[in-house]
This record gives sequence, C-alpha cells and structure tokens, in this order.
Amino acid sequence: MTKKISTKDFRSILRFLRKNFPIECPVVIKRFPKKKECDTVRFNGKVYTVYIDSSLTRQELIDTIIHFYAHIMCIDSSYNHDAEWGKKYADIYSKFLEFEIN
Ligand SMILES: [Zn+2]
Repeated sequence: MTKKISTKDFRSILRFLRKNFPIECPVVIKRFPKKKECDTVRFNGKVYTVYIDSSLTRQELIDTIIHFYAHIMCIDSSYNHDAEWGKKYADIYSKFLEFEIN
C-alpha cells in the first residue's frame, strides 16, 4: 500500500517519540522532495535535523524516522548499524507498535 501520511498522523508519531524516547537536544524532522539531500541526519551542536524524502509512504516514513531516532540515541558510541543501534531500533519499534494498537 502506498498511503502517504497525514500531517496530524505525522505529528502524533513525533509526539510519541519525544515523550517515550527523550533526547537531550531537540530533533527536527524535515520532509523534502527527493531532489534535495534526504535520508541524512545533521547535528549543529544544538539540534538534530533529520531530512526525509517526502514521497515516502506512511510505513516507509515510520521505518525511516525510527531508524534515525535509533542512530541519534546511540550517536556517541556508534555510527553504524551494529548491535547497539539494532537494540535501540527494536526498543523504539516495539513501543511504537504498542502505541499504534492502542
Ligand atoms: Zn542508518
């Protein structure tokens, strides 16, 4: 299914992440058309900004946001898709699935 996400839905997912997985610095998610540089995270010393392709489906967007949230949560120790990152990804995803059901 290629369903796009509504703004309301997008915001509720961000609220869920901010509430359940607080990060010391603010995390801003920006959605851009693919022509811009997407699927990266930048940190300016104060704010993490994640750039995501705005043409993604709802499911792809959720997968991508959680992917980057897991990176940010273990950014001091790892930049790779290693065990620590994988554990964070799984932790966030399982909590998110509970949130989706309820
Ligand atoms: Zn990654």
